[in-house]
Amino acid sequence: MQNFDFINPTMIKFGKDQIGTMNQVIPQGAKVMVLYGGGSIKRTGIYDQVMAALKGFEVIEFSGIPSNPEFEVLMDAVKIVQSDNVQFLLAVGGGSVIDGTKFISAASLYEGDDPWDLIVKQEPIMQGVPFGTVLTLPATGSEMNYAAVITKGETSEKLLMQGLGLFPKFSVLDPSVVSTVPKRQLVNGLIDSFSHVLEQYLTYPVGAMLQDRYAESVLKTLIEVAPVIVNDPSNYEAAANYMWCCTNALNGMLQNGVPVDWGVHMIGHELTALYHTDHAITLAIVSPSYYRHMVDAKEDKLIQFAERVVGITEGTKREKALAAIDFIEDYFNRLGVECKLSNYVENYDGCAQAIAKTFEDRGWFGLGEKQSVTPKLVTQIVEAAY
Ligand code: NAP
Ligand code: FE
Repeated sequence: MQNFDFINPTMIKFGKDQIGTMNQVIPQGAKVMVLYGGGSIKRTGIYDQVMAALKGFEVIEFSGIPSNPEFEVLMDAVKIVQSDNVQFLLAVGGGSVIDGTKFISAASLYEGDDPWDLIVKQEPIMQGVPFGTVLTLPATGSEMNYAAVITKGETSEKLLMQGLGLFPKFSVLDPSVVSTVPKRQLVNGLIDSFSHVLEQYLTYPVGAMLQDRYAESVLKTLIEVAPVIVNDPSNYEAAANYMWCCTNALNGMLQNGVPVDWGVHMIGHELTALYHTDHAITLAIVSPSYYRHMVDAKEDKLIQFAERVVGITEGTKREKALAAIDFIEDYFNRLGVECKLSNYVENYDGCAQAIAKTFEDRGWFGLGEKQSVTPKLVTQIVEAAY
């Protein structure tokens, strides 16, 4: 096992009716900005529950944070936070609203000239306006981690920002909200969380026995609940397990002391930036091709996945490793998701070269846990995913 530092200060309020208790953990007398997206929270009744819980607080609202939250929109909120002296932010939504709120939190206290520098300079973000979240869509894990992914429309960039200052103070996880989530987003959440685990688990083995079994437990639970959730999102027990899996997939526990990859996400972000394809769909497109190209480097862990997660006992080492990748592709397919770019985009010629060039321009000459995924290999991976 490798050395690691671990901290996760986010308080989780999990379960039915927990939205109503969050006034206990927002500083008394704080001026609160409630942030949300395109208005689904009004249709689902979550907005009314939040407003009832905030009775007694001075509240202002900022709506319209889009999926793949855009810097340009978020900067409008930053101006209001600064001019109206907002003291607490409450994100009510999925990963996009939470990530957007993380950026607003940090940018509101930023003293430099251009808040986009918070992202491009890649310095750890250590402070921000305090914020909490009410999760409406299990998927990203953003509710319990210190990362955010922000898009700049003007330049078609989609980039990560991170730092200890981006942890939510608290997150409310009420599995009842899952019953309102459209099938497309449920499927996205089941793919994104699965991929988050794979990015931290399918790396070369370092004897992190607990982390491996923790990752395998999340994967097996997702595999078990996926068909139940898709067919009946009002099944509370399945929803509770699905929601907690998504959080555990990316709250730091799985990455402690192990090498992490994130190559699938890095390539996926470029596809979203180019074609606005849903984040999770890009992961389903990239993953099978990525893992087939990396089968030598990842063979031991792919075999472990085949044996422990899928239960494959027969075959040579290589056959087991390839069967593991087939199983991953099949997991996406069984959710109704095709794993080729051509299923979603018409004009994709040249995009593999364009993505590789972008990585070179950024100085990203080697992705993956061993930095072995060169721009040339990225080109091959994306071309094979056409
Ligand atoms: P999302 O973009 O937050 O939401 C997708 C759609 O679902 C929106 O239209 C939203 O509507 C709707 N929705 C949300 N909750 C709903 C509910 N209860 N009922 C009905 N509709 C609902 O999706 P996401 O997958 O959670 O987030 C994706 C973003 O997170 C991407 O930008 C991705 O790159 C990022 N990400 C971040 C991390 C991280 O660690 N920070 C990790 C992975 C991915 P409204 O607009 O009305 O809310
Ligand atoms: Fe993700």
